[in-house]
Amino acid sequence: MRFEIVTIFPGFFTSIFENGILRRALAEGLVEAAVHDLRAFTHDRHRTVDDRPFGGGEGMVLKAQPIAEALESLGIAQKANTVAPAVSQGTTSVVPKDQLKEDRALAPAESPAPKESDSSASDGIGCLRPTVILLSAQGRPFTQAFARHIASLSHVVLICGRYEGVDERINELYCDMELSIGDYVLSGGELAAAVVIDATMRLIPGVLGNEASGEFESFGSADAEIATDVDGVPRSQHGAGGLLDYPHYTRPAEFGGLKVPEVLLNGDHLGIRRWRREQQLKKTLKNRPDLLENAALSKEDEKLLEVIRQKN
Ligand code: SAM
Repeated sequence: MRFEIVTIFPGFFTSIFENGILRRALAEGLVEAAVHDLRAFTHDRHRTVDDRPFGGGEGMVLKAQPIAEALESLGIAQKANTVAPAVSQGTTSVVPKDQLKEDRALAPAESPAPKESDSSASDGIGCLRPTVILLSAQGRPFTQAFARHIASLSHVVLICGRYEGVDERINELYCDMELSIGDYVLSGGELAAAVVIDATMRLIPGVLGNEASGEFESFGSADAEIATDVDGVPRSQHGAGGLLDYPHYTRPAEFGGLKVPEVLLNGDHLGIRRWRREQQLKKTLKNRPDLLENAALSKEDEKLLEVIRQKN
């Protein structure tokens, strides 16, 4: 999977790409990323990317022309006139850019596929148009389910706004969707792009050491059943099934006067699974009761939940 990031602050992404799982994924070629400096697509002495808003009012607006040129340099035409993507040119690349691998077909999204992704369709000559995403506080909410959808795409462009935002014509002409990482306003889209990349790339096969772990975390998609028939040590993040994760502990067994729950120390695997499931239900009920509506709950879960509710 390949990300293209369009930004006025290309340096922002250096540390993001040089640390942790993402660094390894980039080094191993599981993920590719290129950062494109918007100012490289300006034509005046001051490399101007913004201008005052029509109609007056506060702040400045990112001009359409440099963004349009940045996108066109990636082979992205206006939506009505879709063309095959080309390898980017003339911009700042943090990660060496190899020839783009042939795009694989879009995998069906686990959540209902958003209409916007329809634009990532074949152009008729076997190439796919990248999905162009505008980071915006006004966008559709970015969730774990949506991260799974993005992880199923092969080529994604993230446009980072600044100031009061981006000239709306960029959204209308080039973007497949607006995406928001939460109901608050950031100063720029760079942090949002980093969040989207981080949450998405760890769902790409091979990126996490343990293939299954993404499935079993908070908001995971795995089946919620307690695996009573499974032998051996319970997986570290067992069956989130749309619930929040359970609490994790490591050594020492006592810290700050608090002991690790006894059940985790005695090697009773079934007991551990049951305890973890109960904790997931408890935490979800306390912090995110809304998630219970769509969680995959077994009969045993329902009973546990009833007991938890009665205790509260
Ligand atoms: N005037 C805009 C509004 O009220 O929605 C806010 C613009 S904000 C100061 C500048 C840029 O930050 C936006 O263009 C967008 O790219 C990014 N941004 C801000 N909040 C965001 C959010 N919650 N999710 C994604 N991007 C966001």
